[in-house]
Formats: sequence, C-alpha cells, structure tokens
Amino acid sequence: MSASLNAKIAEVFDEPGCDVNQAKSAKERKKGCTKQLTPGAAAGGCAFDGAKIALQPIVDVAHLVHGPIACEGNSWDNRHSASSGPQTYRTGFTTDINELDVIYGAEKRLLKSIREVIERQDPAAVFVYQTCVTGMIGDDIEAVCRRAAERFGKPVIPVNAPGFAGPKNLGNKLGAEALLDHVIGTVEPEVTTPTDINIIGEYNLSGELWQVKPLLDALGVRVLSCISGDGRYRDIAGAHRARANMMVCSKSMINVATRMQQRWGIPYFEGSFYGISDMSTTLREIARLLVARGAPADLADRAEALIAAEEARAWERIRAYRERLSGKKVLLITGGVKSWSVVSALQEAGLEVVGTSVKKSTREDKEKIRELMGDGADAHMIDDLSPREMYAMLKDAKADIMLSGGRSQFVALKARMPWMDINQERHHAFAGYEGMVTMIAEIDKALFNPVWQQVRTPAPWETQAALLGEAV
Ligand code: SF4
Repeated sequence: MSASLNAKIAEVFDEPGCDVNQAKSAKERKKGCTKQLTPGAAAGGCAFDGAKIALQPIVDVAHLVHGPIACEGNSWDNRHSASSGPQTYRTGFTTDINELDVIYGAEKRLLKSIREVIERQDPAAVFVYQTCVTGMIGDDIEAVCRRAAERFGKPVIPVNAPGFAGPKNLGNKLGAEALLDHVIGTVEPEVTTPTDINIIGEYNLSGELWQVKPLLDALGVRVLSCISGDGRYRDIAGAHRARANMMVCSKSMINVATRMQQRWGIPYFEGSFYGISDMSTTLREIARLLVARGAPADLADRAEALIAAEEARAWERIRAYRERLSGKKVLLITGGVKSWSVVSALQEAGLEVVGTSVKKSTREDKEKIRELMGDGADAHMIDDLSPREMYAMLKDAKADIMLSGGRSQFVALKARMPWMDINQERHHAFAGYEGMVTMIAEIDKALFNPVWQQVRTPAPWETQAALLGEAV
C-alpha cells in the first residue's frame, strides 16, 4: 500500500466521533474496527465497493472506475439510490484495463478516459476510483486527476480506496475523505439561510429522502446538501456553509461530520429517519441545533406542532391495518435499520414480533427492545440465526412473515412463507412517518398475497402419486 493511503487509513481509524474507537489503545486503534476480508468471501464488499456505495448517489457526477471491468460490474448501482434530476451517476464508466496496461501502466489510458467522459457527458465533475490492480501496478490517480482538472477545466476527484485496503465500511470512510480533501469547502453557495443543514450518510434509497424533505420544508429548514443521496456536486462543495449537520445513524460517514465540526465549527447530531419516535426526535434535534445557531426561536414550537400532527396521522393510518394484521407473527432480521424503531410500528399494527436480531444493536437499542417487548423480551432477541433455524421457525409456523435482507429471502421462499426486504436493497421507501405506514401496507400485501395459498397446495402430480401409492 502506498504511504499516502496508509496515512489516510490511520487517520480514518483515529476517529474522534466514534466512542468505540476512542475507548481503544493507540495500538488497537491502528488495527481498525473490522476484520479483514476472507479470501473468496467477496459478498461482504471491498473498500472500493464501500467508497462507490458512499459516493455514487451524487447524481450529476461521472463515476469512472480505473481498473478491470469486473470492479465496475460488481459495484454498479446496486442500492436503488434515486435521483430527482440528472442520471449521469447511473451510467457505468470504467477504463477497463488489459494485460498491456498492467505491464506498461494505465495512467495514459485513464487520462484519455477522463477526457472522453467529459467530452461526451459534460458532468459536473468526474470521480476517479482506484481499484486493486491499478493500485498494485502503482498508477498515481491523484497526479492524473490533478493534470486532468487543469487540462479540461473540470473538477476531477481521486477516490483512493482500492479493494485491498480493507472492508466496505472502511471504503465508505475513504470515499468520504475524498470529499473532505477535494470537494467540501471549494465552492461558496449562492444563498445561505439560518436554517441550512446538511444530511450526512443518507443515500436516498428508493427515494427515502423525499419522505423526509417535505417535513423539513414545512418547517422552513433547507437541506443545503445531502451527502450523498440525490446529491449535486456544487451543493456538496458548498456544504461548509450549513448551520448544522445531521449524521444519519449508520455512522458510515462520521468522519465528514467530525471534520466539518473541526474545520468550520458546524455542530452535528446523530439521528435516524426510521420509526415514528426516531423521526420525531430527529426533527426536535434539528430545530434545537438550528435555534442555538441563530434560527428563529419559534422553530422549536413549530417542530412540536408538526410532530404532533404527523404522529397522530401516521398512527391512525397504521391502526387501520390492525384488524387484518392482529396476531400475525413476524420474524425481524434487520441489518442497518434499527430493530426497535420498527418493532414499535409493528406492534401498533397488531403484529406480534416473535424474534428480532440484535447482532448490530447497541446496549441502548437492546434496552429499548426490552422496554417495548416487555416480559420475556430476551427470549425473542436473537444474536445470530442460522438459515436452518430461520427455515425451521417459518416452516413450523412460528412466524407468519420474515422481514430481512435479500440474502435470506430464499430461506423464506423455500419454506413457502412471505418475506419482505427491509435492508438496503429494498424497493420501497421506509423513512419518516410516511415510510412506516408504507412498511405496514407492504407487510399486509405480502401476507395476503394469494400466491402463498397456491404454492402451499400440493401439485397435481403430487396428489396423483399419493393416490397411486394408496392404490398399490
Ligand atoms: S477493487 Fe479489488 S476487491 Fe474490489 S472488486 Fe475490484 S478487484 Fe475485487
């Protein structure tokens, strides 16, 4: 690994905003937070993949992958991050290097590709991603990007997160470092207001940001930039003029929030858009931080009024499903979405949570689940559930539906039981008050889909075989 990449990784690991990291010794901190990838276990994602996930939602930028074509194939648009305008981000660009490039170096090819992308697409900027092969042959993407920016008069941003640097979540942070080093603070916004905020670590999956933005609009809060869902290059470049930052719960880009606080004094808080009470807490926090930084004092009262109205509306709509869903049992295996946020909405709709994964939950999250699920909650909190155990739970009708990530969907389908995607690849938006109502509506659709009746009915040849068997 190059010295500059090593230094960058050390910097990322020394994260002041992460309590876990700060509790470690200096030596432990150097080792990082996650285990290195197991060779062959590519499904977990590499650092390059993580950087691409973090930055690809910037929609008016051309994302050019410098490496073999398969790197781009692996990482292209796998999360349904939505755009309200430009579609440049959805085109895959790669230098698609070959054997000769490996021998002679591929910097010239990269420069040519940058020129071609700019001439053909005229993007707001070009982001150039380093990958394992081009990293190992020693291509200096930073130097090429500098030269290209001077020559073509456009921002060309190097994203130095080759796959071998580490796992996906390190890649998220290295992608964020590219924004900190080359983008944020380079442009002054045309207008600023006392209610400008940045939302960091929100990727607008299936349009979730748009379930939250109307609430902020109603309060007169302006999203100066979202990093990076439905993001625009210029907005992110001017993000340093916001009055407050919201760090969305995943912490995938915590380094952006902490560094912006250090450089420009922008305070941040960590919040979540998932779950009715979380959404309300987030609105309160945004109002509190903005008022502390000069926004009109009535913002907090207006936020309370909005929360009261929106909560009442959401609970009423969720209650409408109660009769149909009452007593149905749910197995909840979530990843990024906080389990307890979802548990309360499920309970309000009359569903019974028979198991919830707590593998990624913090101590406070577990406490909250205990509070919500009452006596015997511990019996329903699952640290790790093997596919065989999941299958047995569904097959024995201990659960009527499973909510999980895409990887475990086939377990449910094999047990001929309904399943709904609740993780990052989901096709429905589940953020804010609206999102929770959508989630309950989708569960209702999945549970009462007539296909389940059909797949559970024995096939004609099965019944014939049984009859023949009886006759013999
Ligand atoms: S960057 Fe490396 S680990 Fe990641 S997809 Fe490309 S070759 Fe594989």
